[in-house]
Amino acid sequence: MYNGAAFLSKENKGLVEPHGPAALAESSERSAKQNLEVCWSLDSWSDWRQTAHDVKRYTLAHLDELLEKFTSKLEEKGVKVLWAKDAAEANSYVIDIAKERGVKTVVKAKSMVSEELELNHALADIDVEALETDLGEYIVQLSGKRPTHIVTPALHLSATEIGELFAEKLGEEFTPVHEELTAIARRRLREKFVAADMGVSGINFGIAETGSFALVENEGNIGLSTSSPKLHVALMGMEKLIPSAEYLPLFLNMLPRMGTGQKLTSYVHLFNGPAEGCEMIVIIVDNGRSRALAQPEFRKVLHCIRCGVCMTNCPVYRHVGGWAYGWVYPGPLGMILTPHLIGIEQAGKIPFASSLCAACSEICPVKIDIAHQLVKLRAKSVETAGSPARSFVDRLTWKFFSIAMQTGFRFRTLMWFVKLGMRVAPFLPYHPDKLGQWTRGRDLPQIPKEGTFREWWAKRKKTKNEDSNQK
Ligand code: SF4
Repeated sequence: MYNGAAFLSKENKGLVEPHGPAALAESSERSAKQNLEVCWSLDSWSDWRQTAHDVKRYTLAHLDELLEKFTSKLEEKGVKVLWAKDAAEANSYVIDIAKERGVKTVVKAKSMVSEELELNHALADIDVEALETDLGEYIVQLSGKRPTHIVTPALHLSATEIGELFAEKLGEEFTPVHEELTAIARRRLREKFVAADMGVSGINFGIAETGSFALVENEGNIGLSTSSPKLHVALMGMEKLIPSAEYLPLFLNMLPRMGTGQKLTSYVHLFNGPAEGCEMIVIIVDNGRSRALAQPEFRKVLHCIRCGVCMTNCPVYRHVGGWAYGWVYPGPLGMILTPHLIGIEQAGKIPFASSLCAACSEICPVKIDIAHQLVKLRAKSVETAGSPARSFVDRLTWKFFSIAMQTGFRFRTLMWFVKLGMRVAPFLPYHPDKLGQWTRGRDLPQIPKEGTFREWWAKRKKTKNEDSNQK
């Protein structure tokens, strides 16, 4: 369960993992380079982004009718469709399905919705083993911790740490070699695919027109999780629709380019109903999404295709890691989605965890104005939960700042005092670099010789006027 107070608490900081920040920085740089190569170098990339944005906007504007169409087409193909208003209802469906069919083991393909629902815990409560089969998720599940990124869950762990984990939890001989680690996981997982009673997956794109759905992956585990057991339960956030198959190639091109820097994923699965002798159930999950849908200014958050690129491009995420955000969706996506899914009152300080540099808005493939969403969420958070700047000194500082900014004269006076302060600060017994954590590693800015920007601008204007008068 999300706990707003946990945000950036010591135990939730990504920094507590020794390799966390280095791995994050390395991966972020790699991701930025790959994005540059496979996306921004394309002439058509801007058009793709705009089309994807328009398709998602249309989908959300017609979501009720598209969901009905999707449902009736699925049912025509023999798929059972269930609607869950929240996590408790979605989990109760899965539990009932498992109990009715005597399910003992479940193989899970990577699904963010299932993590949002905390489905593994719900299944564990009825003694059903739910095993993550995506390699990163498998590693994280073994470690007993939370994923740090939605696309690359074990981003914070080095190969050596994974080798140690496999040795400790699986009794395997230690190895830090990537290929050997992958082979161990493959061997272990194959046994589970064969024995599993039920497969659980998410849905990347539901196609309303045809009642089909698509899943993308690189490892083959989704194919095995959904085809080896005779029962396949697919969980879908209700916004994961596109109107027709015509747009699927666009999204299949965009998601891997942004998510993993690939032009296409190794596997694309298109599901068109259950195979003979098998059962397929789709659970459409709301869990707070209609709260965002009902507010036009926040609706865009439901455009998200879970590519995760906003995270690795976020300077805050790069430093604090995924756990700092206290729930399943970290980084910029988490900051704009979590308050809607769990309620703004519960989300605590989450929308404030940004410098508003807007690197996320610039890179988002479906053009979500993340930075603007954050500003609006902050206003809403202050309206509902009060300002986070609660200390007397904070309140006094902001009051003073707001008074000083109200007229040009007050602003200039303030700047005069700031300049004076900067001149005398180096001679004070309390040097700024001793004031605290923030100032310890930073030099006091130097006053430019040309003066302030305003002074430079006035001087430039005067010189220009004089030049034109002489002419
Ligand atoms: S908000 Fe945009 S960039 Fe971030 S995960 Fe969603 S689609 Fe990707």
